[in-house]
Amino acid sequence: MTLGRFAPSPTGVLHLGNLRTALASWLSARAAGGRWLLRMEDVDGPRCRRELGEAQRRDLAALGLETDGSVVWQSDRGAVYREALERLHRAGRLYPCVCTRKDLQLLASAPHAEDGLRPYPGRCRDRAWEGFDRALRLNLPEGSVAWEDLLMGRQRDDPAALTGDPLLFRRDGCFAYHLAVVVDDGAQGVTEVVRGGDLRSVTATQLRLQEALGLARPAYAHLGLVVAPEGGRLGKRAGALGLEALTARGIPIPQILGWLGWSLGCLASPQACRADELVQAFDWARVPPGEVRVPEAWT
Ligand SMILES: [Zn+2]
Repeated sequence: MTLGRFAPSPTGVLHLGNLRTALASWLSARAAGGRWLLRMEDVDGPRCRRELGEAQRRDLAALGLETDGSVVWQSDRGAVYREALERLHRAGRLYPCVCTRKDLQLLASAPHAEDGLRPYPGRCRDRAWEGFDRALRLNLPEGSVAWEDLLMGRQRDDPAALTGDPLLFRRDGCFAYHLAVVVDDGAQGVTEVVRGGDLRSVTATQLRLQEALGLARPAYAHLGLVVAPEGGRLGKRAGALGLEALTARGIPIPQILGWLGWSLGCLASPQACRADELVQAFDWARVPPGEVRVPEAWT
């Protein structure tokens, strides 16, 4: 059975791109008669707040995207991530990294660096194990990894060229995003990961981590981003386009759903509708893979 999930970070309002991802994931799960989970990715320290997660959950409910089961908060799951790290350690896959932020900046010639992702050249690979009070990295084997993306087709990445050996645990005791995502998708039995195209570049690293943990590989779909009316990233003006801001501007929820459903290939035109009315028409083969521009009238 298809088990989809939406996994936002509770660091702010869900913007139109997030809402589109959530809808696509929900529609795909429902169209297959499957289940859909909500998971809050709040391991990333103080920027994550429970009340923001609760507001995100209310937005999804307002759109009619009902979830199955209770919401999982990653900040409650430290023991599970720790157990995964111990498993990787026993398999000889972890090593302590003592590089400072400054070391890493100097090391990174960073031809692929974007959004803070910098290749790590493996400087500490040969360091002896010093326990769990060090930053820990996963030793990635050489070679590339490939997957069949539901939207983007055949994808191939050389993970070492993108991020190098990923940091899975920070010295301050925080578990890294990659670890929490992969462990939870495995533990929850997720079969389909739908997310924004900005995360395509981390997929190869996560596939390697899945392999190292002996977890099943879900299907992946990376959606084109929702961009400003004139193109380019959603900026300050259009970036605040959460559900509340849109409805405050007089755009009713059925109209927002109609636009989202149209942008996902479920409707011939952006006419007002409910989420459940889109289920039958949803088909990955009809989802346009490219960027989508926010209507000018909404900004
Ligand atoms: Zn290091």
